[in-house]
Amino acid sequence: MQGEMEDKCGIVGIHCTDDSKNVASFVYYCLYALQHRGQESAGIATFNKEKGLNYYCGMGLITDVFKDYEIQNLQGNMAIGHVRYSTTGQSRLENSQPFVTDFDDGFIAMAHNGDIVNSSELRDELIDEGYEFKSDTDSEVICYMLKREHYDNNKNILDSIESVSQKLVGSYALTILVNGELYGVRDPMGIKPLAVAKKGDDFILASETVAFDVINAKYVRDIEPGEIVFFENDEINSHMLESAGKCKLSHCMFEYVYFARPDSTIDGINVYQTRMNIGRQLHELYPIDADVVIPVPDSSIPAAIGYSRASGIPYGEGLIKNRYVGRTFIMPTQEERELAVRLKLNPIKEAIKGKKIILIDDSIVRGTTSKQLLDLVKEAEPEEIHFLVGCPPVVAPCYYGVAMATKKELIAANYSIEEIQEQLDIDTLGYITLESLVKAIGMPKENLCLGCLNEEYPTELPDDIEAETYYKP
Ligand code: AMP
Repeated sequence: MQGEMEDKCGIVGIHCTDDSKNVASFVYYCLYALQHRGQESAGIATFNKEKGLNYYCGMGLITDVFKDYEIQNLQGNMAIGHVRYSTTGQSRLENSQPFVTDFDDGFIAMAHNGDIVNSSELRDELIDEGYEFKSDTDSEVICYMLKREHYDNNKNILDSIESVSQKLVGSYALTILVNGELYGVRDPMGIKPLAVAKKGDDFILASETVAFDVINAKYVRDIEPGEIVFFENDEINSHMLESAGKCKLSHCMFEYVYFARPDSTIDGINVYQTRMNIGRQLHELYPIDADVVIPVPDSSIPAAIGYSRASGIPYGEGLIKNRYVGRTFIMPTQEERELAVRLKLNPIKEAIKGKKIILIDDSIVRGTTSKQLLDLVKEAEPEEIHFLVGCPPVVAPCYYGVAMATKKELIAANYSIEEIQEQLDIDTLGYITLESLVKAIGMPKENLCLGCLNEEYPTELPDDIEAETYYKP
């Protein structure tokens, strides 16, 4: 990875055969629904038979990047889109996607969600062969690899994807637009999600089903791990990679815990239900006597409801989140950074004061949020604080696209649960166990990637691999 981007992102693709139609606005709405998957940059590429490829990318939220003018200029009936997630450091326009480069008298555009762990090596190989890189993205690496297969080895696009996939180690969900054809690809371990839907005669690919709901498209199915899909004659055509079915499935558990929206269903499992189950499991593990169950909004709301229903203890709001605190908030001083937490979350003192509270959060990664959060909660003077966490201790980095943090920064990699509880100075600190989380998701343990929890990674990792930390305003 060494400096390459973690691409924990949202991707979209639309296939429409009516070339009088423009689909950019639909991509825009789908990306809008996937905004939680990335707020750093957004981009759309479209293809129109007469006008060829058009694309536009920019830094910031989808609504910052695209105004009417940009959408109107993006003519075309085939399109892909991307929202990129913010990691610390490399916030550059060149890294926004879709990545676009010339291909076969035309263009190829690609949107990637995932992280290729051997991309440094692949990139060096391409540089030696004369490819000049414009960005740090894995998409650029994959696009040039496809070009090489196509030009040097005379392969068609499907065979090129097949050959390239044999060299890629890591996670990738891709939407690719090649000269007016749309392809969707999911890595053979199925680490990142990708699904397909239909709206009239059009097909839509997206990272999460919530994107289909907003444009009123009908979910058809998830893309299989190791599957390439493309569209012809009103049908979904499928080509399975040679490696499909031969490697261990490794769906990312963190999609269910935190990352995906609760109204999405991934690989047949609804995220909201899973988070409710997490709450129920937390109650089985920690049946605490308390006055109220309070979520850390928004991602922990379903887990708190689950705990409340299982225990009979009332659910209540105790923290209000300001939804308008965004990525572009720059805080140069420590005082201002502390202010940022208060700006984002404010306790309802009347709901907390004098009460025994069960506070539920989705995960503790570096522990900084929990410390600040609990300081705020304590100001509201609860009688007892029982802090329960819907993700087991994160003890190792993720190398497949969820920028967790480096081992040095991960609180559970450096301190025992007792020590963390002491640091947080609370009555209970209870993490869900790995077994209970697996039960809550309802998928066989061997089909999940739990690398950040047990260091059992689904692929080989280069010795010099580095982890990245996410950016949090
Ligand atoms: P911290 O312990 O300070 O790193 O913050 C943990 C909180 O940040 C969790 O409760 C999540 O709400 C959120 N979070 C966890 N992992 C990520 C991630 N990879 N990217 C963005 N936010 C995250």
